[in-house]
Amino acid sequence: MNAYELIIKKRNGGELSREELSYLIKNYVGGSVPDYQMSAFLMAVYFRGMTERETLFLTEEMIASGDTLDLSGIAGIKADKHSTGGVGDKTSLALCPMLAALGIRIAKMSGRGLGHTGGTIDKLESFPGLTTSIDGARFIRQANEVGFVIAGQTAHLVPADKKLYALRDVTGTVDILPLIVSSIMSKKLASGADIIVLDVKTGSGAFMKKEEDSFELARQMVALGRNAGKKTVAVVSDMDEPLGYAVGNALEVKEAIAVLNGEHADNLRELCLTLGSCVLMEANMADSEAQAGKMLEKCIEDGSALRKLADMVRAQGGDERAVFDTSLLPSAPLTLELPSPQEGYIRSIQAEQVGRACIALGGGRETKDSSIDLSVGVVLHKKVGDYISRGESLLTIHAKDEKSAKEAKLILSDSYEIGETPRKKREFIKGIVR
Ligand code: URA
Repeated sequence: MNAYELIIKKRNGGELSREELSYLIKNYVGGSVPDYQMSAFLMAVYFRGMTERETLFLTEEMIASGDTLDLSGIAGIKADKHSTGGVGDKTSLALCPMLAALGIRIAKMSGRGLGHTGGTIDKLESFPGLTTSIDGARFIRQANEVGFVIAGQTAHLVPADKKLYALRDVTGTVDILPLIVSSIMSKKLASGADIIVLDVKTGSGAFMKKEEDSFELARQMVALGRNAGKKTVAVVSDMDEPLGYAVGNALEVKEAIAVLNGEHADNLRELCLTLGSCVLMEANMADSEAQAGKMLEKCIEDGSALRKLADMVRAQGGDERAVFDTSLLPSAPLTLELPSPQEGYIRSIQAEQVGRACIALGGGRETKDSSIDLSVGVVLHKKVGDYISRGESLLTIHAKDEKSAKEAKLILSDSYEIGETPRKKREFIKGIVR
């Protein structure tokens, strides 16, 4: 067996066995299969797909590439949440403190930005001093003492995904179902939580653009999780326009804090309440969605969710004052408005373009080793269905210099469709897969 033969087999539409996938993964992680061969294999998967059996074997081989976390040292119910990736998706930053405030233990590994989408670890690093490099003992201790810890994926946990994730990001092989399923579920199953809630996005800003593909992604991930003995639920939600108003690392942290302050009642809050309710019901802490929703709203109103975020930031070495005074978060030196070229109703916003503009500003990675600027991004002022006058600002660009601001402006001016009549609002929560 060699990598060349396996690339050809997949390129020709063949089904790989467990042994063949094991060979590829072991040798890629070990270094004897180089990036260029793995890139070719990933592209073959992109065009040929994988059977559910192959996806299961790939997921299991990815888990076997490293350690698994033993969370048995953490008292109570442990929940984990993962998003399939979206633009302006700061859900974890708002949802996890709410759940932790209600006594669910959040001991979570998160990732960095991928493609045009952002990542929780990059966003969290906006808190001055905060570290996401947390070793096993500290991870367990913080989960017990604070009830809430978010760490970067360690090199030992699913190292296959760590390498593949970065390679897919720069080879156009992110948006394909079996690779998303195996990437997400290998990490979630290796991370040892009792409850897994999956935030599956659908629409122009998601990796899965079509609703039926997103439901299939949700179904396969839930089936894999349940088969592995984990309580797994997926919520499919709209990502046809960015989630909330802010896109960009520190800007999104500010918006998540606004939700925890009870200041924000957009779809972002609705999504947090839906995902949170799924967790509370799986944990048998609520009998109905309505009851769970009330519990979540209460921890916003009484400030306990915000305080939980501050506790986590402090425990991870960050400046907790930034939770209560967001002017302490990084902010870009320059802002530029994008005026509307006409009056009318916003009919669509290309979320992916907004994500790409954020990369052009330096807020996302162009190559797997790029460093990013946490302060830059975009704040939308209008969402789909809103009315805008000619010359009124559609959005504000936050940039490090004029050159990148102008580049982003060019991308963004193409991302809005404005018309004389309002478009019917798309349903935001598309469904729950249990
Ligand atoms: N998030 C992941 O962790 N992996 C993917 O492949 C896509 C989104």
